[in-house]
Amino acid sequence: MAHKITDECISCGACAAACPVGAISEGDGKYVVDADACIDCGACEGECPTGAIQAD
Ligand code: SF4
Repeated sequence: MAHKITDECISCGACAAACPVGAISEGDGKYVVDADACIDCGACEGECPTGAIQAD
């Protein structure tokens, strides 16, 4: 299980700074979560201004 970033992402980068394990990086048109690195802590969820981050 890992958190996932949907197409609602506006590439603001707020989530990347919140992730304690550095699992979030800028991808093609939106940010992406590295599912292997994510520990499912949920810290990024509340940081997203568009609600684009969801538990998978
Ligand atoms: Fe990073 Fe936690 Fe979000 Fe996973 S749930 S991407 S570990 S902040």
